[in-house]
Amino acid sequence: MGRASKDKRDVYYRRAKEEGWRARSAYKLLQLDDEFGILHNVERVVDLCAAPGSWSQVLSRRLLGPAPSASGAQGGVAGSAAGAASERPRIVAVDLQPMAPIAGVKCVQGDITDPTTLDAVKDILGAQADAVVCDGAPDVTGLHDFDEYVQAQLVVAALGVCARVLRPGGCFVAKVFRGPESGLLWEQMRVLFHDVHLAKPRASRGSSVEAFVVARDFRPPPSSSSGDSRVNDPLIDALAIEQPRAAPFVACGDLSGWDADRSYDLEVPEQAPTSMDEDGDPSQTPDEMRRPKPVVLAPVQEPTAPAYLAALARRRAKH
Ligand code: SAM
Repeated sequence: MGRASKDKRDVYYRRAKEEGWRARSAYKLLQLDDEFGILHNVERVVDLCAAPGSWSQVLSRRLLGPAPSASGAQGGVAGSAAGAASERPRIVAVDLQPMAPIAGVKCVQGDITDPTTLDAVKDILGAQADAVVCDGAPDVTGLHDFDEYVQAQLVVAALGVCARVLRPGGCFVAKVFRGPESGLLWEQMRVLFHDVHLAKPRASRGSSVEAFVVARDFRPPPSSSSGDSRVNDPLIDALAIEQPRAAPFVACGDLSGWDADRSYDLEVPEQAPTSMDEDGDPSQTPDEMRRPKPVVLAPVQEPTAPAYLAALARRRAKH
């Protein structure tokens, strides 16, 4: 959430900045957890497609507790990084993009579809995970069928990760784009998990096709505990469903609370208008003069590798 973005956007965007979350998506995971208790008794978790890191912040806070400093939502037990130095990290975050550090979270830069990334996650974790979450999204093209297909491929890659690192009985949460194939995805999930819901948290805009599959009680396919890090054939076979049905759909979050599609008046301190036109008259209407100006909030976390820096470097190299 950079400075160029309009602060006037929806209420979750604004609240995320006020409360120190790196992205408004934090509220989606918080609402999913409140509804389904997915982080209850969870000790080890893998956060796939994690940058800029608001879900990792939520995981850090809910698994490790709030940071002792006044650093807002920045993370969990700062300094102790989830216990003694000899202890392995309990939260591993993976993304193509680099991520600024979060207390108690080990970040891996890599592609979740690449088996070597998965090997790195397994090595770091050292034990099976209780939960895998994936908020992955490809760069959308606007061609809905294509976008839905690419998104589904990310979910399949995330399922491959589950097959390798998730313990039996564990939980999986992933972003999906709703479309004609949603029923198929639900059926595929039901082969691997005992309890599967499609959920729409209140913080997810109603106008967006995104939803979240919440799959609990993992039942791994027979050969998924082998050492081979390729996505295994039994998993692929398990996903070959011929007659999909409709998935049960749950709306969650406080349904009478903030609506992510609306704009709300900001609660901002009164501030006297000062601007004048060239004749020295106020350049605003009396109504505009009475309206308080919103205070622009700085981003919670500056981008780690913004594309504009690479563009500037290229331009400088030309001169
Ligand atoms: N959950 C994050 C948060 O709360 O800050 C936001 C995730 S953002 C919507 C989607 C992320 O998916 C992007 O950072 C992108 O780099 C990542 N991504 C997309 N494809 C990926 C892939 N194949 N491997 C790893 N990360 C990927």
